[in-house]
Amino acid sequence: MPTDQASGAGAGSIVRSAAQNTPLLLDIRNLQVEYLTPHGPVRAVDNVSIAVQSGEVVGLAGESGSGKSTLAHAILRILHPPALITGGEILFSGKDTLTMNMTELEQFRWRSVSIVFQSAMNALNPVMRIRDQLLDVMQCHGISKAEANRQAVRLFELVGIDPQRLDAYPHQLSGGMRQRTVIAIALALNPPLLIMDEPTTALDVVVQKDILQQIVHLKERMGFSILFITHDLSLLVEFSTHIAIMYAGEIVEKAPARELFTNPLHPYTVGLMNSFPSIRGEKKKLTGIPGSPPDLISPPGGCRFHPRCPRMMPECPVKAPANKAVAEDHTVACYLY
Ligand code: SF4
Repeated sequence: MPTDQASGAGAGSIVRSAAQNTPLLLDIRNLQVEYLTPHGPVRAVDNVSIAVQSGEVVGLAGESGSGKSTLAHAILRILHPPALITGGEILFSGKDTLTMNMTELEQFRWRSVSIVFQSAMNALNPVMRIRDQLLDVMQCHGISKAEANRQAVRLFELVGIDPQRLDAYPHQLSGGMRQRTVIAIALALNPPLLIMDEPTTALDVVVQKDILQQIVHLKERMGFSILFITHDLSLLVEFSTHIAIMYAGEIVEKAPARELFTNPLHPYTVGLMNSFPSIRGEKKKLTGIPGSPPDLISPPGGCRFHPRCPRMMPECPVKAPANKAVAEDHTVACYLY
């Protein structure tokens, strides 16, 4: 469930989760990540608060370059210089991951949170058999070779690949099989949270649909939560609980999935919604969003979306709008509301 920045660093989410008596698995509060460049710092993630409860699928959508993947890497603490976390907190089951030492981080990654990257070919080692890559993860975390082998077979069955293919090299599998393999590796230690960073982007739409169905099936069977990152808002319709929209490093709107689809408020969200076709209802012209995302070395003043916004008003370039709660669990950062 996305937290409520307006209510102060995710406090809103804590109140709601306590009321519902469900624990917050991931609670990111006012996170800032900067890339230090010769031209000055680039704030790729700016004051972002977002949370995931047990059993939830939270979608994070926005164009390329909006900071989504940087946020995912920050959660796992796998950012490399010149990227730096310069502010905020990342709490996992109440524990601050930013204070973890290397040993704690090694346990945290894969056991608590794992990630499925966009391109399976880049995530897999091309000169290692799949079985060895799976065993490597499990044995690094103290699982015996015999048990890891049993688990590898079980994982391949779970993701719908014949376990005989365990001894294949990545190039001997199809694109869909490779992505399923990466999902199997991410699930090797049964983590409660899976981050999926554009997991189906490189695949054709039919395989994409198969993989998404598989993810839903696995989630129901294994009970993990998902933070699903994509530039394609339409993918989130089917299975997200909540959706957050990110633009130029900031969260500009957050709402329950159904609410966001029936009542999108921020002009950027509306633009994203109008950028993909619907299979239901009347045919309509796709309009897209004019222009391109800003250069974050010198982002536009005021509302960062104002140079592209069809509803810009005189105050928009002057001061950035704060996130406001407009309905239960629905916040938006826009002067129209
Ligand atoms: Fe558009 Fe102004 Fe709202 Fe920004 S604050 S999205 S420029 S109307």
